Order: sequence, then C-alpha cells, then structure tokens
Amino acid sequence: MAKQKQRIQDLVGLVHKLYAPELAADWDNVGLQVGDPNAPLERVLVALDPGLAAVQAARDADAQALVTHHPLIFHPIKRLTPEDAVGKVLWTAACDGVAIISAHTNLDCAVDGLNSWLAERLGVQQNVPLQPVVGDYLKLVVFVPTEHEQSVAEALFSAGAGQIGHYDECSFRSRGEGTFRPGQGTTPFIGVVGQREQLEEVRLETIIAKRKLARVLEKMHKAHPYEEVAYDLIPLQNQVPGAGLGRIGRLQQATTLDAFAARVKSALGCDHLRLIGAGDRAIHKVALCGGSGVTLLQTAHRQGADVLVTGDVKYHDARLAEELGIALIDAGHFATEQLMIEQVTASLREAARQHHWDIVFEAYTGAVDPFRLY
Ligand SMILES: [Zn+2]
Repeated sequence: MAKQKQRIQDLVGLVHKLYAPELAADWDNVGLQVGDPNAPLERVLVALDPGLAAVQAARDADAQALVTHHPLIFHPIKRLTPEDAVGKVLWTAACDGVAIISAHTNLDCAVDGLNSWLAERLGVQQNVPLQPVVGDYLKLVVFVPTEHEQSVAEALFSAGAGQIGHYDECSFRSRGEGTFRPGQGTTPFIGVVGQREQLEEVRLETIIAKRKLARVLEKMHKAHPYEEVAYDLIPLQNQVPGAGLGRIGRLQQATTLDAFAARVKSALGCDHLRLIGAGDRAIHKVALCGGSGVTLLQTAHRQGADVLVTGDVKYHDARLAEELGIALIDAGHFATEQLMIEQVTASLREAARQHHWDIVFEAYTGAVDPFRLY
C-alpha cells in the first residue's frame, strides 16, 4: 500500500500546534492565507515576508507551501487581480500552487517563539514575558448522565477540548442530581412527558480554544444521549503560562549601553543600530521585542528595564525614552525578526519528523533588509 501523503492542512495543524493561534492579537490574521487545504505537500519554504520573490522561490524549489512570519492579507480584499501588490502575490501563489501560512503575533508570543529566541541570542537570562497574553479560551460545562460520562468526555477530547500547555485531556468532574420535566412533543431519552425526573448526573468541565468551539459542540451533541443538552460556555481571562509579547530578563553581568549595543549588533548580524541613552549608562535588566515593539516602552520601564531592544523606533518614542530615563536600542525590524527563519524551519522539521512525515523544510535565504544607509 502506498504511504499516505501529507497535505497542506497537516502543515497548518503543525504550525498551529507550535504557535497556537489563540495567542495572536485580535487585529492579526494568522494561519492559511491562500491555498487548498487538501493539496498534497512534500516541500516547504520558510520566509519572513510573503513577498513575490519568496513565492517565486518556493515555486522554483517545487515547494507547495511558504510559511511566513508576516501575514499576506490584513485588509479585506474586494477583487483578486494581479494589479495591486497583495493581489499579485495572491494571484501568483494561487496559480503556481504555493499555499501561504503565516504565524505572526502567535509566533511573537509563543513560549518557544520569536522573542524567546531573541532573548537567548542576546544573552538575556531567566527571561519572562514582558506583557503576558490572555488566550482566547472558553470553559465548557456540560451535564451528563453518569453512564455516559466517559463517552462524552472522550468525544470532547477528540475534538481538542481539555488542552492546557503540554497537557491534554484535562477536565474536572463532580457528581450531583439533575432534574428536568419533558414537555409536550418531546421524546426524552429518560423519563416521561409531563413528569419531573430526578437523576444522578456528572458536571463535566473542560477548557476549549474558541476556534475549536464548533467542532467540540458538534462532537458533544453527537455523543450526548439527551435530546436537549444542558451546557454552559464561560469566557475566560486566563493568562497563558510563559506566553506573551516581548521578554524581560537580566544579563549575566552588568555592562554599559555601548558595550551591550556592540553585543546586539554582532548577535543580530546588523551593520548599524540607533541608540537612545548615554553610552556609559549601566545595563543589567534588558527588555526586548522583535519587530515593532516600542509600544512596550512604558511597560518595560515600569518593570525596571535599563534598556528596550526593538525596531521601528520613531522620534517621539525616542523623546519618551529620554523622559522616562530608559535606554532604547533600535536594531531594525528585519534584524530583530529574521532569526525566525532558521528557528521555525528547524522546529517544523523536528515536529514533522516526530510524526514520521516525509516533508522537506528549507529556509528562504533570499531576503535582505529593505533599508540601506546612504
Ligand atoms: Zn514584524
């Protein structure tokens, strides 16, 4: 029998397992941007940006998918023609059979994601999220007759309910008495029309990611014996342990801003930095956020950071840093994020290997920083 080939949707599942979409910001658009989930998959290219050159490189390498950090589609599109910048990439990707999958703020916030890699690269130890993230989760409570407890629980778990970090099948069960009275026109599983029924039930509680809600409810309804299933959905405000935007931690030894800047420059392989703060000021506690992270400046200051390392710093950000008395290093958007290419390639390769999937992952090395100094 021929070995089952992987499909684009398997890759989407893999990306989402490593970088849960629940971690993404509300305004973001992560996941499959273009492509047929059922199309076969053998080769994947990983890039920072979903530009035309990267799509063409994927096509030339016979790759069926391009995994990127930045999403291709941010605003709803009204027509699909190759006549505007995004349309041209979408058109080319669709015509050439290259699916595009993006992991953006979910990659930024992941426990093992862009900012934890950046922290490691810069020697920032014992780092924790600078701004913890509240996940898009719900608590599902369903009342089940005791003899159906196992089958309903298994149905929920098989749809992806009950996952907390690296634990799955998480639930809490308590026993009690349920009552109901079947009305006219019902065909109750237990009891008689018009008579109050009282029986032992299990209150089964579990957590679900919002994106899995439809599937979980469908499975629950299928497995539950009652005509009308009693259940509650409760929105949660839980922080996701270890996940969040940016990181903050300490250098093994205090140093000066100039000396730390030299370290950042060589660790990120960039040929220039922009600094705010005196060169001899002491740097021990370091906050960082790849890309455009200067919105975290006040948060970093409140948490006692001596410096924030990020990209895309504007004039008024620089003035604010001066006022607050926190140093700022602008290493550039590209230089603070391009490390994701090698890291995501390696992580996906390892995850596919664990599944015994025959997929080749390659890093796209053709991108350069669009800025040059003159
Ligand atoms: Zn970015």
